[in-house]
Formats: sequence, structure tokens, C-alpha cells
Amino acid sequence: MVAHSMASGMSSSASARSFGPAASSERVLLRLLQPPGRSERVTHIEVVPARLATTAPWPGWLHPDVIEAYARIGITRPWAHQVEAAQHAHAGRSVVIATGTASGKSLAYQLPVLHALTAASAVGRTRAPAGTSSSGRLDPPTALYLSPTKALAADQFLALEELRLPAIRAATYDGDTAWEERAWVRTHANLVLANPDLVHRSLLPSHRQWAAFLRGLQFVVIDECHSYRGVFGSHVAQVIRRLRRVAAKYGANPVFVLASATVSEPAVSASRLVGLDVAAVTADASPRGASRFVLWEPPLVELGGAPIRRSAVAETADLLADLVADGVRTVAFVKSRRGAEAVALAARRALDAVSGELGWRIAAYRAGYLPEERRALERALRSGAILGLAATTALELGIDVSGLDAVLLAGFPGTRASMWQQAGRAGRDGQESIAVMVARDDPLDTYLVHHPEALFGRPVEAAVFDPDNPHVLGPHLCAAASEWPLEPDDLSLFGPTAPDVVGDLVARGFLRARPAGWFWTKRERACELADIRGTGGAPVRIVDDATGQLLGTANAATAHATVHTGAVYLHQGETYLVGDLQVDDDVALVALAAVDYFTTARDITDIKITSTARTTLWGAAEVSFGSVEVTTQVVSYLRRRVGSGEVLGEQPLELPQRQLSTRAVWWTIGDRELAEAGFVWADLPGAAHAAEHASIGLLPLVATCDRWDIGGVSTALHEDTGRLTVVVYDGYPGGAGFAERGYEAASLWLTATRDAIEACACESGCPSCVQSPKCGNGNEPLDKAGAIRLLNTLLRDAPARHPGPALARALTAPTPR
Ligand SMILES: [Zn+2]
Ligand SMILES: [Zn+2]
Repeated sequence: MVAHSMASGMSSSASARSFGPAASSERVLLRLLQPPGRSERVTHIEVVPARLATTAPWPGWLHPDVIEAYARIGITRPWAHQVEAAQHAHAGRSVVIATGTASGKSLAYQLPVLHALTAASAVGRTRAPAGTSSSGRLDPPTALYLSPTKALAADQFLALEELRLPAIRAATYDGDTAWEERAWVRTHANLVLANPDLVHRSLLPSHRQWAAFLRGLQFVVIDECHSYRGVFGSHVAQVIRRLRRVAAKYGANPVFVLASATVSEPAVSASRLVGLDVAAVTADASPRGASRFVLWEPPLVELGGAPIRRSAVAETADLLADLVADGVRTVAFVKSRRGAEAVALAARRALDAVSGELGWRIAAYRAGYLPEERRALERALRSGAILGLAATTALELGIDVSGLDAVLLAGFPGTRASMWQQAGRAGRDGQESIAVMVARDDPLDTYLVHHPEALFGRPVEAAVFDPDNPHVLGPHLCAAASEWPLEPDDLSLFGPTAPDVVGDLVARGFLRARPAGWFWTKRERACELADIRGTGGAPVRIVDDATGQLLGTANAATAHATVHTGAVYLHQGETYLVGDLQVDDDVALVALAAVDYFTTARDITDIKITSTARTTLWGAAEVSFGSVEVTTQVVSYLRRRVGSGEVLGEQPLELPQRQLSTRAVWWTIGDRELAEAGFVWADLPGAAHAAEHASIGLLPLVATCDRWDIGGVSTALHEDTGRLTVVVYDGYPGGAGFAERGYEAASLWLTATRDAIEACACESGCPSCVQSPKCGNGNEPLDKAGAIRLLNTLLRDAPARHPGPALARALTAPTPR
């Protein structure tokens, strides 16, 4: 038996496990289906068969010390894909390994790295080890490991320590590293574990202090590389280009080893990320137990006479309570912080109602908690003290929750890669497992639970990001120039738009052109210009007014809508009211309050088309992609009753406008075609608005985003086009690649949108089709039938009218099984 617990650390606690081979996933499913009315909620069961492991001998070149170290922790034969990836890297070819959760990707990149560091130490400094600098210097090789989260780097560090290899001097280096320790790391560590933020803000700006490390840089490992998507992905792609340029100045030309979740075309995304050719290893040879993936649609419930779907949060809470009552160790992944808190709270209440014993064994976990709180929860889950955890996707990365029996997904997590990643948390070590995805009442989830082929019939999307976004590129070119003057030859590294962007930076006084190249001559640190997490500024701190305690943080870009004065904020199942959002100080003061409502913000959004990059004609309809200027102002908020969502009242807010220049996809239809289709003027606003909502909901089908990453505006007559226009835009400065993807897959995307609305069982529009939870207009006006007619008019001359074959063509990669 090969024990692969490398990346994850320890998966030994068997104490609280009551669901072993004796209780199959089928039995757990039957248990969930017991209560009356449950079985009709299952729309699909995908049985994923067990897979046997394929092992391979250790590579012949591998240093015996490394083989021995693995033997000590119980690994005697690696899996075939691990050896395949290691072979590429050892031979100097950059490689991405894209296999399932818990398939031992860590070992794959550890082999070449640990070998190189160990072999160099064994030969001492008598000769330069293969693959280091061509300058002929005798620099010992080094390696840099990058992960998107500190927690993952910390786990990797522990796994490396466990190997006890004397030649490996590993160290984590992040914002928390003590000052005196930093100097030691820079000069002595040969394997540094960090995150892209650190490279961006510290390593590159002070590269002279890292000179020895950079001269020896032989490998750069990029873990969880699929998480570099959207604007964050664009930034990280530029940080890596800067790293490659600076390393080259020191004579190093590192090999990149990337680890990814299973995605389509991993080599394409990885090459885009690092700017080099990358080989891909995708054949997963690790074993896995059989699993059941269940698609679940909550029942219809009456609300003020109109039937709507019960919320995924309420449904997930019930399932979590049932599983915990049976001793099944379960994590429920919930999209939002608020949702995770609500699932934990409701499941706890449900259990307390039947027995006072179990409620406390359920907890909530999400980003924004302080590190101590997070660690304590992780420990409790590992020990079995906690049986059920409601988590946001923050838990998806970097934290070991091995040994789970079941995973609940409250809603589609936005990408199929994330879906498999989350489901893969259950059933390690060849156990059987079950995953249940509960549909939210939105168009995408509703479409997916009724089109299982879109989830299981091949599709795992590529990570979407745009390294050439000029808003992203400009700050990085400034940072690059401050690190080392930019020369004309450098520009090709930064992509085709770099020369134009440099020209613009010179014109605006950011860079100065001199004979030797472009210089950064300002006093400020150039790296401060780029906010690589793309959150649009410092996070807003959420502080308990009574105690002064920091409860968490909120994203600056959305703070107006989430922690405005009067907003309800949930923390560990407690409800707080925001007493005061201090916009200039980035602080929201909150106070405990027992309220039975939640809040949603309303805004006024205005959009201006500033330039059109591309246009496709579908008969008289036009689909375009280009740049827009969006102005948004949060003007009021609604109080809604918990559970039903019924509106209790509206309060005005006075907040400043926010500007966003970004990229968008939009479509227009001429007046004549509208008249021919039987539309009268009064029908148009509701039809366009409903089509806009549903299309925002369905865009994640073709792009790796979720509906909160994008926004939309619809109008019966837009002043920039002179026609009926529906715009969908990226919610980040300069765009994130989502709208562009929507433009490229417009026919598939908008056909699926039409089909989703048409298939919805409701009479005149509901959250599963045309209503939107983030509508700044309170979902007024909406015309469901009009939206179908409008989309039919739009699609009449579109190239592919049937989503089936188009979808099949778009989905090329194998599913991770
Ligand atoms: Zn509906
Ligand atoms: Zn709306």
C-alpha cells in the first residue's frame, strides 16, 4: 500500500470515523432519501467507478537519499504520473501536472527539486550541478515554491520537514516571517516557500538581497495554478514574467513545474501563465474509491402565492444535519460567507431540536476569520471533535481536510474544476464517498442539474485570464523598470501590447526614456501600483464596536454593497448590524443584534461604450466586444425576511459613485427586427432586462467566473449604439477575460441562456431563470416570455443553434476520474 500523504500532512486520525467500507455511499444516499418527498429532488446520480493505481519505479537518476527519505515515510513506489512529470522537469522541460485532488502532485515536483538540491550538496562545490547558470559560476541550486495561500505553503513546509533531508534548507517566507528570520532565509535557504504577493512586493523589488538565491534558481514550482484566473491570474502572469527577467539577469533560466486541478488544455493555460512552452501530464494513476455524485434540486415552496425553489442553503443545512446525526464526517461548501454561516446555524438548530448533544459538533469556516480561529477549527475537524463543517471555498485551497466521508456543495461552485476539487475532498485512501450538489435557485444551477452532460460529459474548463490587460500590464512594467531598467528586447516577454503600454507610461510621466532603456525615476515603490489580488484597494476591516475586536474583513470593491451602514453581517452564527461604514478609513463598526432579516443593496448603474474591438453580425443582430466605462452608486438597501426573502422595507444610503473602466460583451437588435418579431416599445425594457439577468447567470458555463465577477446593463435604446442593447461586463478594472470569452462563445452561451429560461417551470420568472439576487433594480421590470422571444430574434441567424453538439465540441478534456 502506497501511503501518499505528502502535501496533506497527516491523515491518520481514524477515531471518529463511523462510515467506513461497511457503510457504502449507497447506504448514505438511501439515508438522505428516507424523509418523505426527498427522492424526487434527485435529478441525476453519476456513479464514478473506482480506479486502480498504476505505480512506476523511481527514476534512475534520483538520488538515493531522496528514495530513502520517502521510504521512511512509507512511500516505496510512486505513481506513474508522478514519475512522468518528474522526468520532464529533470530533463529541463517545464511541465504542468493536471490530475485529481489527492493524486500526489506534490511528490511529482518534489522529486526533481529535492534531487537537484541533494545531488548538488553531495558533490559539494567542486562542480556546478547540471542546469544551473550558464555563467559558469559555482552557485548552489535553489528552488522557489509558490502557492496562492500561506496555509498551503505552510503545509508543504511541514511535509518537507517530515522528509528530514539534510541538504534541504526549506523556509517559508511571507508577510508573517519575522524580520531577523528574513535575512537568514535570503542567504541560506535553498528551497523558499512563498506566494506570488511576496515575489511581487518583496523578492523582486529587493532582488539584490536575493542575488545568491536568484543565481542558483533552477526550479520554480507553481502549485494550484488553476486558481490564478481572472484579474488575479493576469497579475500573477506578469509577476512571473518579471521574475523570469530578473532571474535571467543573474544568469538563471529556471524550469517551471506547475500543479493544477484537472482542467481542459492545461498546457495552454500553464504556457499562458509562465510565458513558456509547457508539457502536460494528465493521466492520473492514483487509486480512488467508487463515488456517487448526486445532483439535487430543492423542492418548490409557496411564497406569497408564487412557487419558488427552496434555498440551497436551507436544503444543504438539512442534509448536513442528517449526515452529522449519522456520524458521517461532512464538509458543506457554500459560496458566500453569509451562506456558510447560515448553513452551520440552521444545521445546528436542526440537531439541537432532536438532541442537545450534536449541535456543537457543527461549525462554520470561511476566509476572513483570524488565523487562530481557522487553525482551531481545522484541528477539531481532523480529530473528529467536529463532524460537520460549513465552509466557504477558502477551505478549498491549502487546508487538509482528508478523511471526509461526504461533501455537500450548496450550489455549483462556479467552475467544474472547483466542483471536482471540492468533491475530491471526500473518499481519500480508496474509500467510497458521496458528493451531493444542491442547486441554487439561479439559471446556471437549474440548467446544470437538468443537463448532467454539461457537468460529467467531458467538460472541465480552462482557466480564463488575460495577461495582456493594459490595466494590469502598466503597473508591472513600472515595477519591472524599477527592478532593472527596461530594454527594448525585454518587451516581447511582456506580450504584444507592451510597446504601446510603455509609450503611454512615458507620456504620462511614469517612465523616463533614456538611451539605455526605460527607467522608473519616482520615489515611490513601483510595486505599490499593482494590487495583484484585484480587490480594488485595502480590505475593509470589520470591527466589533463594543469590544474593539477585529471580526473579519470585506472586499473593498464590494464593501459599499455588503457592509454599508445598516447591513446585516454574520460571524460564527451571530448576527451583527453595521452601525457605521467609515468609507475613508476602510472600517465598518458592527454591533451584536438579534434580527430576523438580511439585507441586499440597490444601486444605479450607467454604462458608456468607449471603444469596440470586435463585432460579429448575426443577420441584423450584432454581438460586440470592447471597452466600457461603468458608473455605479449604491443608493439604498432592502431588508428581507430570513427564509422567505420577503421585503420588509427600504432605507436610502448616501455613498459616493464608483467608476470602473473594463471590458464588455454586448449585443444589439435593430428596431425593424424587433417590430417584425412583434415587439412593441413598452415590452422591450422587461424583455431585455430578463435576458440580461439570465445571460449573466449562464456566462459561467463558458468562462471561469461566477455571476458576482460580472455585471450587466440592459436598455431598450442605448445612446452609444442607438439600438436595444444588453451589456455584460467584467467587474474588474481593465477586464478579466470573462466578457471576451462570452464574446467568443456567444452563440453557445446565449442559446443556453434562451434554453434555460424556456425550460424553467415557473410562470412569469423566478430566481431559477430571470430574477437576480444582485439586481440593483429590485428585479423590475422583468418579462420572461419577452426574454425568450428577444433571444430567439437575436439567435435567428446565429451560427450554432443547438447547445448539445456545440457544448460537446467546446468540451475537449477528459473528466477527472
Ligand atoms: Zn423561472
Ligand atoms: Zn437587474
